Amino acid sequence: MSESANTRPRVVVLGGGFAGIGAARTLKDVDVDVVVIDRHDYHTFQPLLYQVATDLLPQSTVGHPLRDLFNEQPNARVHKTAVTRIDLAQREVQLADMAPLAYDYLVLGLGAEVNYFGVEGAAEHAFPLYTLPDALRLKEHILGRWEAADKDPSLIEDGAVNVVIVGGGPTGVESAGSVAELYRNLFVKDYPDIPQEKARIVLVEAGPQIFAMFKAKLRTYAEKALDKRGVEIQTGEVVESITPTRVKLKSGAVLPAHTLIWGAGLQANRLVQSLGIELEKGNRVPAEPDLSVVGHSEVFAVGDIGWITDTKKGAVLPQLGSVALETGKHAGENIARLVEGKETEPFEYFDKGTMATIGRGAAVIQMPRGRTMTGRAAALAWGSVHLALLSTGEDRAKAIVEWTWAGFSHERSARITVRTDET
Ligand SMILES: Cc1cc2nc3c(=O)[nH]c(=O)nc-3n(C[C@H](O)[C@H](O)[C@H](O)COP(=O)(O)OP(=O)(O)OC[C@H]3O[C@@H](n4cnc5c(N)ncnc54)[C@H](O)[C@@H]3O)c2cc1C
Repeated sequence: MSESANTRPRVVVLGGGFAGIGAARTLKDVDVDVVVIDRHDYHTFQPLLYQVATDLLPQSTVGHPLRDLFNEQPNARVHKTAVTRIDLAQREVQLADMAPLAYDYLVLGLGAEVNYFGVEGAAEHAFPLYTLPDALRLKEHILGRWEAADKDPSLIEDGAVNVVIVGGGPTGVESAGSVAELYRNLFVKDYPDIPQEKARIVLVEAGPQIFAMFKAKLRTYAEKALDKRGVEIQTGEVVESITPTRVKLKSGAVLPAHTLIWGAGLQANRLVQSLGIELEKGNRVPAEPDLSVVGHSEVFAVGDIGWITDTKKGAVLPQLGSVALETGKHAGENIARLVEGKETEPFEYFDKGTMATIGRGAAVIQMPRGRTMTGRAAALAWGSVHLALLSTGEDRAKAIVEWTWAGFSHERSARITVRTDET
């Protein structure tokens, strides 16, 4: 494909997440030119970021080269650059270090970003978990705090090895469970002079319970699994402010902790605020049943950025990897229909259930018709669903090796810090 000598329609896909990849790959055999834009040269597998942050998986399992995903797709090109503006009226996308790109069809798959809800100090001191750099920063920070406390024990009382996790949804619970297993199974041996009872892991949730989206029995199971791993749960508590070493709660309590993981909220990519259309809750872009953007039949909102209603149930779909992949594929199919002069079709979500893992052999699953699963069987099902989402067989193989090894041995081989500014 030559971008200068185009005669066929150009589809610009913004974002190489599950949604963007789903759309771009679906267009493989369609008579269009596909241009995929992402600020990274890799696809990020967000559901496993916490496993990079807690040393269970190496970064290469969770980030896969974007270009590799399109090597076998002659009608596609990938550019690593940041989108700076989207002009719906001119049908043009402006980019950080490339000439503007005109489009015939546009796929908006730029995902979501952290929402700190204005909590004082959060933007400066909290650790979010949305990107690979986020995960690596958190990993290095935790390892660094343990090394510092090992050399200066007075730091232990100051909260150097304590971790506060904000948000009792899947991101918060999965992170809490994984930090706990890292601490209780490995750091207990790595740092024999730091007593584990002095290393607090506190999960803070504003609502009355964690895992609000799950049935009561799954919530109880998760609470017990976290308690067994030494995680303290504080519900009905809201974080008011954060400093590098303290977390202040609205109740007045102050938790000494040098690490705060933010898993409490997200909003659509901020670029949508300049689209000139009325946005929904969390700044999400309202999508028509066929996933096109209201008033722009050539633009499709897919994945986390979209406010997408399940046409069967009439409910707004959650921001999940499976929703992103399915909506991306559907947008690709609808673009193919338009190119062939056909009508678009409404999107129908195929719900595989809601699931989350708490630790080794501990997970919860709630099926669409209400059936539930816990324990090892649920952990295995969780693993297979997530392996299916991983982009290539090579990634799957790497993840299986690391998970299997961790399962048998409690070992986490990725717990080293390699810095390029050191000798
Ligand atoms: C910690 C965590 C755990 C999760 N766990 C689960 C889970 O267990 N199961 C599940 O189903 N879902 C889970 N999710 C949700 C799931 O990962 C998301 O719903 C999914 O990744 C959304 O896909 P997307 O393609 O819409 O957006 P993203 O995956 O966010 O992709 C957006 C892409 O756009 C790029 N981009 C953003 N801004 C720009 C810009 N200005 N210029 C250029 N490129 C840009 C980004 O680099 C990124 O590659 C989790 C999410 C997180 C953060």
